Amino acid sequence: MFLGMALDSCNVHTGVRATRRCAACNKPLCKECQDFDGCCSERCAAANKRFATSRIPPKPGRSPWQGVATLAVLAVAAYFAAKHFGLLG
Ligand SMILES: [Zn+2]
Ligand SMILES: [Zn+2]
Repeated sequence: MFLGMALDSCNVHTGVRATRRCAACNKPLCKECQDFDGCCSERCAAANKRFATSRIPPKPGRSPWQGVATLAVLAVAAYFAAKHFGLLG
């Protein structure tokens, strides 16, 4: 009768049968424990999120020159705006 009780009970709700495990610390969780992004606690959810995002490689194509190009476009736009409004004579 007592077999499996300790093994498969939720880490948060003692005595409740666990159906899944925390995505971060792997503790057994019951179906009531859905509040923290698939984790047992807010801390685990944060750790899991940090782990997940750290595995995503940085996007290629984002270079320092992009900021320079934006500034150049703004400068040209300002020049033509000034010319249009007759500020340059
Ligand atoms: Zn956890
Ligand atoms: Zn639970």
